[in-house]
Amino acid sequence: MKIAKAAEIPDAEVVVVGSGPNGLAAAITMARAGCSVVVVEAEEQIGGGARSGELTLPGFQHDLFSAVYPLGISSPFFRSLPLREHGLEWVTPAAAVVHPFDDGTAAVLEGTVEDTGRGLGDDARAYKRLVGPLAAEWQELLDDVLAPPRLPRHWLSAMQFGSSAFWPAETLARADFSGEPARAFFAGNAAHSMLPLHKTFTAAFGMVLCASGHAVGWPFAKGGAQKISDALASYLRSLGGKVVTGTRVDSLGELPPAKVVLCDLTPRQLLKIAGERLPYLYRRMLKRYRYGIAAFKMDWALDGPVPWRAEACRRAGTIHVGGTLKEIAQAEWQAWRGRAPEKPFGILAQPSLFDDTRAPSGKHVLWGYAHVPNGCTVDMSERVETQIERFAPGFRQRIIGRSVMGPAQLESRNANLVGGDINAGSPVFPQLFVRPTHKLYATPLEGVYMCSASTPPGGGVHGMCGFFAAEAALKKVFPERVANIAPLAWGSR
Ligand SMILES: Cc1cc2nc3c(=O)[nH]c(=O)nc-3n(C[C@H](O)[C@H](O)[C@H](O)COP(=O)(O)OP(=O)(O)OC[C@H]3O[C@@H](n4cnc5c(N)ncnc54)[C@H](O)[C@@H]3O)c2cc1C
Repeated sequence: MKIAKAAEIPDAEVVVVGSGPNGLAAAITMARAGCSVVVVEAEEQIGGGARSGELTLPGFQHDLFSAVYPLGISSPFFRSLPLREHGLEWVTPAAAVVHPFDDGTAAVLEGTVEDTGRGLGDDARAYKRLVGPLAAEWQELLDDVLAPPRLPRHWLSAMQFGSSAFWPAETLARADFSGEPARAFFAGNAAHSMLPLHKTFTAAFGMVLCASGHAVGWPFAKGGAQKISDALASYLRSLGGKVVTGTRVDSLGELPPAKVVLCDLTPRQLLKIAGERLPYLYRRMLKRYRYGIAAFKMDWALDGPVPWRAEACRRAGTIHVGGTLKEIAQAEWQAWRGRAPEKPFGILAQPSLFDDTRAPSGKHVLWGYAHVPNGCTVDMSERVETQIERFAPGFRQRIIGRSVMGPAQLESRNANLVGGDINAGSPVFPQLFVRPTHKLYATPLEGVYMCSASTPPGGGVHGMCGFFAAEAALKKVFPERVANIAPLAWGSR
């Protein structure tokens, strides 16, 4: 990998550092507004957290990082782009996620609220009360959730959401549901927050993910995560944008002169490349930015599908392995407190059941990660596989290839994954809303902006951080071009 040299990067009005979904989204927004744009990426492969490749055996396409995209398919920014024409196709399994239990039963996030409720027994009505209104008004909810901090646009749905979303997931699960299946199922969804479940606002994650399962499903990108990045880059090139790979930016001084620099970086890398140019107080705020718990990522090549005990698991793209509410809450608490959980909470995805381009005929890929402390060096492979085996006896016999990436390996493949934190900063309150500082996208340096998932609305492959950062830069630096921004595709599917 080369270090960036100004002479090797084409001149442009706008330089974007980093080609993750937010970097590409920012680049596209600037290009659509009429700016010349170049994206500079450290790795040889574009895409940041949306990349795929043969991690185990030839012919097995694994998603290196992200894999499941309820926010991607819903993103008002992605939906405003002709990504299908540039090769992106979503594959949506019949059931979004299944939560298996030790007795062979499972709770299932089905297409409808009613079908999901039927599997939750006595808690069907409580589930409908909690999630039904959000699923029905999904796009309105997104309008307020996938946005920078501002007054809600849809007061009614925002109030309905906020009154429950504020609660710790553990409290809400115990108060709203009487049975273990519903409680554990809700905890599994809330645990995507990567926060201990007694923290305020963790219920919001569970509610949003459940509602998304009914409104849009939890799709994969056909052919793998790379297709998302390739489609974004292909569209960017069609607008005249350029992408330079294998070139790490170690200092802002290495960049050619540009009116705007958009950094698809987290605070730690911004500190590195901008260093002493930043005023002391801003530097101090960036240093105080909190990174979250980490992922321990595993991928498997299998000589058959996972032998789940619960039949429903075969209909779902995603499986939560973690057992009861108590077990999940304990695993998340341990990871938060710096202890590698004995029984980790794991999120698995089985794309090859729904997309035959992922593995040779009859074979399968399995993607997964467990939550561990930031920077954890414990090899969790055995514990993760034990959790899977618990709900799928015979799983280990199906393994023909395995890739393991602990926090350090994740960070070595993408510098934004600081200590293995997959969300570019913990979503703990108030950093959930105001990130990385009160300045949000702007920095004290003229023309230099942050556009990564360290800015609102935060983690996930949706490109909204990149869009809003570019909009902020256009308003300030090229106000005459703001009118050229194509409108976001809010509204129904
Ligand atoms: C294991 C894992 C699982 C995940 N699962 C999901 C999921 O299923 N669904 C979902 O929606 N999200 C998921 N995510 C989160 C998602 O991938 C991120 O939120 C998203 O990619 C953030 O996009 P970004 O553009 O802000 O940053 P990134 O995608 O991280 O991109 C940053 C880019 O900047 C580049 N870069 C960094 N430093 C420099 C430098 N100095 N010079 C040049 N380039 C540089 C990096 O190489 C990288 O390409 C997951 C993430 C991980 C790690």
